[in-house]
Order: sequence, then C-alpha cells, then structure tokens
Amino acid sequence: MVSPLPTATDTTNANTADTHNRQLFIETVGCQMNVLDSELVVGALRRQGYELTDDMKSADTILFNTCSVRERAEHKIYSLLGRLKYAKRQRPGLVIGVMGCMAQKDQDIIFRRAPHVDLIAGTGQLAEIPNLIAEARQTRRRQRALSLGRRDGKRVEVADSFESYDPTREPQMRPTPHQAFVRIMIGCDKFCTYCVVPMTRGPEQSRPPTLIAAEVDILAEQGVKEVTLLGQTVNSYKHTEEGRLYRLSDLLHKIHDTPGIERIKFVTNYPRDMGSDLLEAIRDLPKCMHYLHVPLQSGCDDVLKLMKRGYTVAQYREMMDRINEIVPGCSVSSDFIVGHPGETEASFDKSIATIQEFRFKNSFIFKYSPRPGTKAFDRLADDVPEADKKRRNNELLAIQNAVSEEDNAEFIGKSVKVFVEGESKAESGKRKAEDANASPSSQDARPAIQLSGRTRCDRIVVFEGNPRLAGSSTEIAIEDCTTTTLIGSIVTHDVQHGCDVGLPILT
Ligand code: SF4
Repeated sequence: MVSPLPTATDTTNANTADTHNRQLFIETVGCQMNVLDSELVVGALRRQGYELTDDMKSADTILFNTCSVRERAEHKIYSLLGRLKYAKRQRPGLVIGVMGCMAQKDQDIIFRRAPHVDLIAGTGQLAEIPNLIAEARQTRRRQRALSLGRRDGKRVEVADSFESYDPTREPQMRPTPHQAFVRIMIGCDKFCTYCVVPMTRGPEQSRPPTLIAAEVDILAEQGVKEVTLLGQTVNSYKHTEEGRLYRLSDLLHKIHDTPGIERIKFVTNYPRDMGSDLLEAIRDLPKCMHYLHVPLQSGCDDVLKLMKRGYTVAQYREMMDRINEIVPGCSVSSDFIVGHPGETEASFDKSIATIQEFRFKNSFIFKYSPRPGTKAFDRLADDVPEADKKRRNNELLAIQNAVSEEDNAEFIGKSVKVFVEGESKAESGKRKAEDANASPSSQDARPAIQLSGRTRCDRIVVFEGNPRLAGSSTEIAIEDCTTTTLIGSIVTHDVQHGCDVGLPILT
C-alpha cells in the first residue's frame, strides 16, 4: 500500500540520506488513541537510532499526528505545516510527515495545500512509517500508505487494511512512567452522523485477549502501575478466542491479577453497550477505577435522533440508575456537542437539565462544526449561528463547573486514597523554568513540591509531597477544592494507645 509519487521538492543531493542527524520532533493532537499511536511510532523509530527532541528547528524528521474530529485541530496542523514551508527550502534534507486521521481522510488535500510534505500515513498504516521516512529521505519522492476507505472493498478487506499497531513501546512518551495506554480495539461501527471516526479509523475490531494480557504483563514489568484500556467504544469490546467469547468484563477479569498493576480504567464508553456484567466487574474487581466516561452528547431526544446516537435520554437515565445501584459512588463524565443542527433553545435547555440531573464529574463541551465525509455534513444544515454556539458552550460549561465544584466540596474534611501521578502540571512548568537557572547542587536539595494524583473515582488531587511518591498510593486529607481539583495534604497517622486516629477514608 506504499506508493511513491513524484515529489515537488526534489532539490536535494543524495548525500543528505547519509548525513541526517536522526533528531525526531513529533506533534500530537487529538485523543488518547493518538497519544498511544505517537508512543508506538516513536518507539519504532528509536530502535532505528532516532532521538526525540522538543526543538522543531533542530529536528531533521518532523511528524504530525493529526485529528479530524474537530475543524480547529485540522487548522492547527495546516498552520504548523505552513510555517515549515520556508524551513524546508532552507533545509531540503528535512523529512516532514503527516500521520493519523487527517492523513487517512485528506491525503490529496494535504499534498496540495502543503506540497513540501514528504509522507502521509493513515491510521492503520503506522507500522510503515519508518520505511516511508527512509524511502522519502533516500529517493526524495513523496510516500503514502493508507488503509482502504469504507466503501472501497468488502468489510473484511477494509478491516484487514487497518492494522492494529502495538509493538514494543516508547516509555518516554507515556503520560507518566507509571501509566500507560493499552489499545484493546480499533475502529467504530456506530456511525454517529457528526463523526468522521468510522471513516478514518475503519471498522470496529477487537484485539485478542491473550495479546492484550501479554502487553499488560510487559508494561507491568517495565514499572507501569496503571493501565488505561482504549477503544472508541471500549465497552463494545468482543473477541472470541478458543471458542470463548470475551466481553470487556471478561477481559478485566483476565488482566486484573497482573502482578504490579494497581489500577485499571477504560475509555470511551458507549451508553447503549453499558452491560450490567461490566458494572459488576467494576464493583467486584478492586483494581478497577470507579469512573466511567460515557458521552451523552445532548439532553434532547430530537437532537440525539439527528445525531443517530442510538439511545434516548430515558435510556441513558436507566443506565445511570444501574451504575448508581451497582457501583455506588462511581463518577461519570460526559461529552456534549452544542449547536448541533436542529438544536433549538428548548433542546439546549434539556442539555442543561441533564447536567443538573446526572451530576457529571466533568463534561467536555464542544461547539458543533460540520466535518466533510460525515452524514451531518451532507444532509443537515449547520443552522445554529456561531454566536449561539459560543454562548451555549459557555453557559453549559458554567453549569457543569458549578455542579463539579459543589460535588468536589463534599470531599472537604474527608480523607481519600490517591494514586500519585507526579508533579502537578502547573508546578512542573514553573520548576522547569527555575531549573534552567539553578545550579545542579541546588536541584538536588529540592524540598517537597506540589504533586498531583487521582482518587479511585478519577478526581484530581493536589498536595505537597516528596517527588519520590510518584507511582505510589497515599492518603490525603482534603481541605479545599476548585471546579477541577481537590486540594489537601498527606495524612500522617498519630498512633495513640494502639488506636490509629485518622479521618474516614474514601476511595
Ligand atoms: S460512537 Fe459515534 S462519536 Fe464515538 S467514535 Fe463512533 S461514530 Fe464517533
């Protein structure tokens, strides 16, 4: 599926191939699936001697891992590509590649808008990237590797052209050294009218449970303590192995006892596929987090129908009732699209009402933007003015923030068990700036810093502590909160007359 095309930038001499510095810059936009894809690609390139740099100017290989779900993400990539036009003129040996969803969907458009791009690799062809880079560098000809479009073959042929790419990883690219993503399925068959994913990531395919378990074993040996299982509709997971059907609940049972793994979570869930077997697994398996991301998208049945989401608000409510009954205290987060075609003020008010009713831990709120290649783009007029989309976005966010803060405040005065992820992000930026000016000896004598971690129900907690706590679990007394964060301090237990005096611990 690799097809060399004549390049528009064929101005180099062949010696460039031998003298390049193997510095790799990669920019990743989009979802966790993309973060994982970048980790895998960087891992493969490292084995060929590449080093990762965060300085685009010093890199001789630049990759963009792209997202097509929202227009803004695409604009960002075209703007970054535009800026590289002159860099490419000055350094013709530079190899520029575009991978991921935009590459799969818009290959010709990318080459037309950015003729200095050397290679394009679709979502199912990431394993080809090291070869594509080598070919592009050697031949100075454009390279592309793409999976079949959904209408370009039988389902099995199209599915086969999307490879699940999960070789040895690049630990440096992980969210933290103790956390890793594990892909358990690729693609999507739900066809929500506004979404390009079924086109860009192909048909739904679940990976064999034995392969997933083996990957979790390797990650645990590398020091990973928390795994996040990834799928576009992760709870639709189904795979038959040796005559036995594995659902997500069965997979959780299979990997639960992996030595070293302390926490397991999974995203993103599809409301209609939230079986009670899965909720019972979360209840019964102590390593599973009590947290579910289950996008509702709209609180109005008419809009849900236009979106072809496949459920009503009443059905979502039934799911929420089951979650609360089987896993009490489980937090749920959601996504919402505001300004979808057909969303009136009355339907928007219904979305507000659902946030107040379901009390989501948090919601990711997006303004609708028509995406070429989707049914909504072809068939539904983008009839909500931009100003209304913006206002509804702000309004819904404000309602969600108020709910989140009220629910976070319930934790004040209580004690929570927290898995420590590492330095809090705000602190990390500040410290990098300080370290740049500090002597090595002053860096060694660091006092306690602001750390961040998560509760079992995925609430972010910040507190002061020793950086060595990263990757362990600790107990935090909650003293304050914001809309997004619980703030507290490490609990030190006073032992008096044989009694451990402390606050009640919530998980
Ligand atoms: S379930 Fe719908 S929104 Fe989610 S990836 Fe599939 S088509 Fe897109």
